[in-house]
Amino acid sequence: MPLVAKILPTECMDHELEMWKKLCALAGICVPGLFGAYSLEGQNGCEPTGALVQQYAGKTLSSFDTLDDQQRLELYRTVTRIHEAHVEHGDLSPRNVALDNGRVMVLDFSHSSHHECEGEANCAELRLLRRGLKLSV
Ligand SMILES: [Zn+2]
Repeated sequence: MPLVAKILPTECMDHELEMWKKLCALAGICVPGLFGAYSLEGQNGCEPTGALVQQYAGKTLSSFDTLDDQQRLELYRTVTRIHEAHVEHGDLSPRNVALDNGRVMVLDFSHSSHHECEGEANCAELRLLRRGLKLSV
């Protein structure tokens, strides 16, 4: 399985790891699997750096328009499941969605936060996504 390493400041990595704990049941399904997290001490005045080793989830999108109807619905269901796991993504742009062999995954939880989803009628992120994906109401 191909892997990628995301290099980021340690404090950002700690935040993403907090979110990963909520999302671990969706790993490999809705979000990439996580295979390791490393913290490197800062040296010579550099900030401490973190590295998240994740499953390669496929090519990221340039636009939601590249998805067919089924993939659009799949992405919406994926984000719904992420919300059910009490995480709001916070930056659902095409560059944070990957497509591999028709499977859709959501990436990059650096802007995410704890979320108690009250369903689409009362959830701004789901409503915005539905509009962005041009899904019928
Ligand atoms: Zn929600």
